[in-house]
Amino acid sequence: MYNPSLLDDARAIAGEIVALRRAIHAEPELGLNTPLTRDKVRGALANLPLEWAEGPSTTGLVATLKGGAGEGRCVLLRGDMDALPMPEETGLDFASTIPGTMHACGHDAHTAMLFGAARLLCARRDQLKGEIRFMFQPGEEGFHGAKLMLEDGLLGGGNDRPLPDAAFALHVMPNAPHGMVAGRAGPLLASADQFDIVVEGSGGHAAMPHQAMDPVPVACEIVSAFQTLVTRQFDAHDPVVITVARIEAGTAHNIIADFAALKGTIRTLSPRHRVKAHEAIARLASGIAQAHGMSARVEITEGFPVTLCDPRAIDLAEKVSGELFEGPAFRRLDQPIMGAEDFSYMLEKVPGAMFFLGVAHQGTDWHKACAIHSPRMVVDETTLPHGAALLARLAERFLELGWG
Ligand SMILES: [Zn+2]
Ligand SMILES: [Zn+2]
Repeated sequence: MYNPSLLDDARAIAGEIVALRRAIHAEPELGLNTPLTRDKVRGALANLPLEWAEGPSTTGLVATLKGGAGEGRCVLLRGDMDALPMPEETGLDFASTIPGTMHACGHDAHTAMLFGAARLLCARRDQLKGEIRFMFQPGEEGFHGAKLMLEDGLLGGGNDRPLPDAAFALHVMPNAPHGMVAGRAGPLLASADQFDIVVEGSGGHAAMPHQAMDPVPVACEIVSAFQTLVTRQFDAHDPVVITVARIEAGTAHNIIADFAALKGTIRTLSPRHRVKAHEAIARLASGIAQAHGMSARVEITEGFPVTLCDPRAIDLAEKVSGELFEGPAFRRLDQPIMGAEDFSYMLEKVPGAMFFLGVAHQGTDWHKACAIHSPRMVVDETTLPHGAALLARLAERFLELGWG
């Protein structure tokens, strides 16, 4: 049933949402320590009926809104606050004033939309039954901010304060149609682990390789073997990506290196393939090195798990999008994306979903828009009230009806 009143209310506070987004955009912060951004959020939400919790491991903030209509379900909405270590080339009036740092993943927009949702829900407090936790988290870009906030107990999980019953988050997509909401049941994003391999040879003169142990051809063989490994040992319907992104060996034209180092990423969509890929990489690298009379040290560092979305959350978002937006606003994605997200830590513990929000400028060809992590990535700010209304309505409806 089309009923855009919450969207109208979100549009009425669009100026505040955009102002917060621009202020955060101009002063981007990295990693787990985002004090200026935290202070901007607290300032924007001051004087509202929210209970605040923060620390100790990060500058993450949780604002809790207790509904005025009594106890009930608990829902969590999340926005991330950190930027990327890269220069900005957008030419915007409110472009980054901090050299080498840019909000190129849209986390400024996520924080602003979550602020908008908090404003909308505070205004409806009297009718709400249950509790909403607004999670403002730093350290999404590889710093495990969500995991640390969970471990700090900020999001519940103790005896007196259970974890929420549902959790939702949005991520902007500049190269997707303006205002489109998209998601999928099951895996949405991949797990992302890193490997560091060192092939240990024995250096010498480049003209007399037989008197040395040259690790370079061995490293090359390992790189090629990984590509065969992916196609021959893994089911093609459960994708695995292994990319060697960096190779380092040697110092000059005429010296055989002592060692060759390989660094790369492993992406999978299932725990089964994740474990199997780790084992296979270690076995293959060591086995190839050994076959050439050398050895290989293999270190695998676990990153974010697979982002798994609950089918009930996808159904809920489809209904809510139909209420708020005109036309077919919700799209079910056929395929997951092999990128990764640390909201996955939350979805390991609490049913819910992450959705994408198309933020291409209205009337432009979204196919040509610069993607997230581009120094020229831009967001059409008229989509921000859409995101705020969507988050608010997901929470409101979940408190009213649960997954129904
Ligand atoms: Zn990112
Ligand atoms: Zn991001």
